[in-house]
Amino acid sequence: MFPPLREELRGVEPYGAPQLDVPVQLNVNENPYPPSEAVVDDVARSVAEATRTLNRYPDREFVELRGALASYLGHGVCAEQVWAANGSNEIMLQLLQAFGGPGRTALSFAPTYSMYPEYARDSNTAWVQGRRESDFALDLEVARELVERVRPSVVLLPSPNNPTGTALPPEAVSLLCEAVGESGIVVVDEAYGEFRRAGVPSALEVLPQHRNLVVTRTMSKAFALAGARLGYLAAAPEICDAVRVVRLPYHLSAVTQAVALAALRHAPELLGKVDQLRVERDATVAWLREQGHQVADSDANFCLFGTFADRHAVWRGLLDHGVLIRETGPDGWLRVSIGTAEEMTSFKHALTAVTGTAG
Ligand code: PMP
Repeated sequence: MFPPLREELRGVEPYGAPQLDVPVQLNVNENPYPPSEAVVDDVARSVAEATRTLNRYPDREFVELRGALASYLGHGVCAEQVWAANGSNEIMLQLLQAFGGPGRTALSFAPTYSMYPEYARDSNTAWVQGRRESDFALDLEVARELVERVRPSVVLLPSPNNPTGTALPPEAVSLLCEAVGESGIVVVDEAYGEFRRAGVPSALEVLPQHRNLVVTRTMSKAFALAGARLGYLAAAPEICDAVRVVRLPYHLSAVTQAVALAALRHAPELLGKVDQLRVERDATVAWLREQGHQVADSDANFCLFGTFADRHAVWRGLLDHGVLIRETGPDGWLRVSIGTAEEMTSFKHALTAVTGTAG
């Protein structure tokens, strides 16, 4: 059979949400605010500077960027504890390449980010999925038992979780790090970490206590830089060194490094927009509940709501009103990313119109 693809990849569709050109795009948890003129100018100047030496390979160890990311994270994290790649998707694949592999198992808890099983498949790692409770939290005793039974090499725990928005308390992270022990790593995927509600701590708080803990972040969401592809992790230096063994040479281009460094210089401005999105998120959750919908508590820049007997009809109806959301999560639920106030007004009008007729 041509092409002579690996057996398990035959007939598999590439992952990806529909990229449709509609007025209100609330389907892939992007930040709705494009970079300000100040950010555009700084990025453009930095890229022009980087262009002067594009005949050379970039700094393979991206020392300056690792230092800047470490300062941004705080919590006593230093440059040797930081590693970066082209999006946290690549970070996760590198972790699976280094710590997964044949004879090893990766574990997560459903419903969760749909790329995880793909990283496992692509690194020939066995994949086991436990379940979350009906409120999408983890039952820690059930999780611990599963860890003890499966003995995973990698546990993937998004916090806040996608698609539910649920954050994990640091005690849960500590309990799982201890249950996994030194024969595995626990990856807390904080892609949406900056959107947590006040008082919900990051797993970075317990990083010094656990050598096997990896906290991943991305500049795609809080830094409004999805197009630049920059994800990173904080972990023990030994873990960064292990990932360096599997990374491709010069995987992080000089242009990417320059763009990320420029955006980090504007962190306070960009995080101001995150605050606006958190307010809009809380207002959206409250509004959906007022309309009688069920809504999962959200610490992210999206919320999961439902339930609909025919969620596809609701999704389709919204699209007919020019509003694209995501048909994902458990049966009957839909996920909407938080956009600008105007976009959320369009979403609310469209949902009212659609559930009035289709609900
Ligand atoms: N983790 C989670 C939970 C996500 O939802 C996403 C993207 N939607 C990612 C990681 C990957 O993001 P990126 O590769 O843009 O950093």
